Amino acid sequence: AKSAGGNRFELADEEADARAITRHGLTTALPTALERGEFFIEYQPLVHLGDGSVRGAEALVRWLHPQHGVLGPDRFIPLAEHTGLIVPLGRWVLEESVRQARVWRERHSDTGPMRINVNLSPCQLSHPGLVQDTVEILERTGVRPDALCLEVTESALIGADDDLLKPLRRLAEMGVDIALDDFGTGYSNLANLRRLPVSVLKLDRSFTQSMQQFPADPVDLKIVEGIVTLAHSLDLTVTVEGVETGAQAEQLRILGCDTAQGWYYARPGPPDRLHELALVDATA
Ligand code: C2E
Ligand code: CA
Ligand code: CA
Ligand code: CA
Repeated sequence: AKSAGGNRFELADEEADARAITRHGLTTALPTALERGEFFIEYQPLVHLGDGSVRGAEALVRWLHPQHGVLGPDRFIPLAEHTGLIVPLGRWVLEESVRQARVWRERHSDTGPMRINVNLSPCQLSHPGLVQDTVEILERTGVRPDALCLEVTESALIGADDDLLKPLRRLAEMGVDIALDDFGTGYSNLANLRRLPVSVLKLDRSFTQSMQQFPADPVDLKIVEGIVTLAHSLDLTVTVEGVETGAQAEQLRILGCDTAQGWYYARPGPPDRLHELALVDATA
């Protein structure tokens, strides 16, 4: 312990040490984990707010660690970004989830195309192979580009120069949707939106949380209403995340949001869960 006396400080030091050891252990285990197939993907449905139908799903990666059990992305994505493993890991997530989208399409030709949303880390964005890898994956799986949506956080694109935007523009021209994730958390230059090759805004969960009461805070209502109006005038679709209650869903629907995602509809789960949800939906 660094400071004199104080068990509290010693404990804090020990915890910090333990965390650092785990971090180090996880970092060194990442490459083998990918080789051994320890990563898996859970899918969370995207639901149309107007009619409640399942329109697609977001792919969310997890790590089944042999000692620590299931780890969420917040535990290892930052480490993978730091070491560069995010590039092969991200490529694996993309291929795996696009394959899954293909399976859904085959089983649910009646419910219309299932779309798949995949998160892109800023490191993948600046990696020169992004466009080619994506094209190859779509070709190998026979999935149309317009069934794929790549999610990039608002903060990754703030102040992005043309070199960073070029691959996204190429993908958008091919028909791939680009979503601005966690929208409203960064310092958002709304006028800047026009410059970005983006077709979907994903409103951050903090907005959804402020819709908890019914009626919600009038200032928050005005803000969301303004964002939705602006987004629609720029031909962007608005998706809301973190919907946990029916009241939130209703409020966001009234405000004109297009699609929603959250525990109220379904937690992230195995791919077959989406089949069930989509089937229930199709026969309702
Ligand atoms: P995100 O892209 O903002 O994903 C939404 C997160 O909110 C997910 O957490 C999801 O499980 C959680 N969530 C969904 N509905 C609700 C709800 O109603 N209430 C609450 N409280 N939470 C909800 P998760 O799965 O832990 O993922 C965390 C973050 O990790 C993601 O945030 C994303 O930034 C990142 N991530 C996940 N998968 C990947 C991936 O394949 N690649 C990269 N680069 N990042 C990923
Ligand atoms: Ca996301
Ligand atoms: Ca998000
Ligand atoms: Ca978020």
